[in-house]
Amino acid sequence: MLNVHSIETFGTHDGPGIRMVVFLQGCPIRCVYCHNPDTLAKWSESCRQMSSQQIIELLKKEQPYFGKKGGLTVSGGEPTMQAAGLLELFKAAKEAGFHTALDTNGVICSEEVHELYEVTDLVILDVKHINSEHHKKVTGVGNSAVLENAEYREKSGKPMWLRYVLVPGWTDQPQFLEEWAQRFSTYKTIERVEILPYHTLGVHKYKAMGLPYKLEGLAPPTAKAVSDAAAIFQRHLPHVVVA
Ligand code: SF4
Repeated sequence: MLNVHSIETFGTHDGPGIRMVVFLQGCPIRCVYCHNPDTLAKWSESCRQMSSQQIIELLKKEQPYFGKKGGLTVSGGEPTMQAAGLLELFKAAKEAGFHTALDTNGVICSEEVHELYEVTDLVILDVKHINSEHHKKVTGVGNSAVLENAEYREKSGKPMWLRYVLVPGWTDQPQFLEEWAQRFSTYKTIERVEILPYHTLGVHKYKAMGLPYKLEGLAPPTAKAVSDAAAIFQRHLPHVVVA
C-alpha cells in the first residue's frame, strides 16, 4: 500500500506528454523553500492509502489521454521513502504497458531504490546544489547520495532529466552553477535540464499550518537571472535541452 497525498490527472509538468501524477506523502529532508509543507510528514489525516491495483485502475481510465509519450509520474514529498510499495506499483504499471517516471530528490540511495530505477523509464532527479555544504544549508543534508544516484542512473544507460531550483542567494552562485553543469557534462543519459525558478505560491500553506516560513520576503529570481543560469548549463551541456 502507498500513502498518497493527492493525484493530478492531465499533468503536463512532470515528464513527457500528458500524465497522471501521483504525489506520495512523506519527505526525509526539509528544503528552505519547500512549496508543499503538507506533504512532508509520513502520514497526514488528509492522505489516503491506495494499493497498486487501485492506482493502475485509475491509470487505465486516463490512458486515452496519454498519447504516445504520456503515462504515470510519481512525485512527492519524496517517493523513494515508499520504495517497496512503489516498486510494486511500477512493476505493475510496466506490465500494463505504461511509461513510468519518478520525480525524486535523490537523497535516499539504496539497493531498493536502484531496483526501482530499473523499472523507471525516466528518472527526474533534483540536484539541489552541487556543493555539499550548500546542499545541506538548503535541504538539511549533504548531496553525496544524490550524486551517487545520478552516477548509478548514468551507468545504467537509461534516460534521466535533471532539475534545479534557482533560489536567489541560496542556489544562484555562478561558480557553483558552472560546477553543477561541469559535473554532468559527460553524462550521456541526460535528455533535459529544467530550471525551476523559486516562487512563493506555497507560502500560504505555512500560514495555514501555523509554521514559520524561512524565506519570508524573498523575491523570485529575475528573468535575467534565470536565463543567465540556463546559459551556463547550456554551455556545458550543448547536447541537452535546457528549459
Ligand atoms: S524535496 Fe521537495 S517535498 Fe521534500 S522538502 Fe524539498 S521541496 Fe519539499
